Amino acid sequence: MRIDSVTAVVTGAAQGLGRCFALELARAGARVMAGDIQADGLATLADEARGLPGRVETAPLDVTQEASIRGFLAATVQRFGVPNLLVNNAGILRDGLLALREDDGFVRKMPSAQWKSVIDTNLTGAYVMAREVVTLMLENGVAPGLVVNISSITGAGNPGQGNYAAAKAGLDAATRTWALELARHGIRVGGIAPGLIDTPMAAGLAAAARADMIADVPLGRMGRPEEIWAALRFIVECDFFTGRVVLVDGGASY
Ligand code: NAD
Repeated sequence: MRIDSVTAVVTGAAQGLGRCFALELARAGARVMAGDIQADGLATLADEARGLPGRVETAPLDVTQEASIRGFLAATVQRFGVPNLLVNNAGILRDGLLALREDDGFVRKMPSAQWKSVIDTNLTGAYVMAREVVTLMLENGVAPGLVVNISSITGAGNPGQGNYAAAKAGLDAATRTWALELARHGIRVGGIAPGLIDTPMAAGLAAAARADMIADVPLGRMGRPEEIWAALRFIVECDFFTGRVVLVDGGASY
């Protein structure tokens, strides 16, 4: 797909990777509906996007609430028509071990709410978004279409991130499955699994944990959001790409 033919929906676009994707898509001529739970970030995004060749419009979106998703997509269709690209980017971290025995013998365990919040946002939110956007594409004969799921190298497993890893591994399985289901309709589905990238999410990690993670990156640094945009741009423009998750991690996975 040519990027200037794209009408995109980007979730979690108020900051970090999603904000970068929205701005870069608009810089390349796309029309973008940017959604997030953070109203302030959306307001500054709309300001920052003024004057770009494409357009960025914003609307509130909570991917854990189906009514919010429906309202957001109705606003998208009203503003731009049916989107032909969905970037499922919204995600949260709520790290913790499954169970930990403290020195005094007390065993602390991951509360169900902590598990569920990550699955609800990172996996179920992406599923409902994909289902609703793909339904709009199919109902309106939109093809080619594309869904890109933002995963993580942590989907392969990482101590302290059982909830996040399970969500991302599930998302990778869904990416492959939806690609097989939708190819005959001209809809591609791909993923990107970033390593450690310099965003507010990474800034929220404990300094020691971040330093350990950087030490494991052969390129010796965090990635920049623009380097993940380069992968998204490739997936958008390469019409023979579907069903796979691209790793962009400075060599951290093997
Ligand atoms: P971030 O925390 O900086 O930004 C995430 C955005 O998602 C925020 O603006 C937040 O408000 C929004 N969001 C959270 N819950 C939401 C909800 N229910 N509905 C709508 N929006 C919601 O994170 P980031 O680093 O930009 O991460 C973006 C994506 O990339 C996430 O899926 C994350 O898991 C993934 N990722 C990030 C890294 C990294 O190192 N930064 C690495 C691998 C994968």
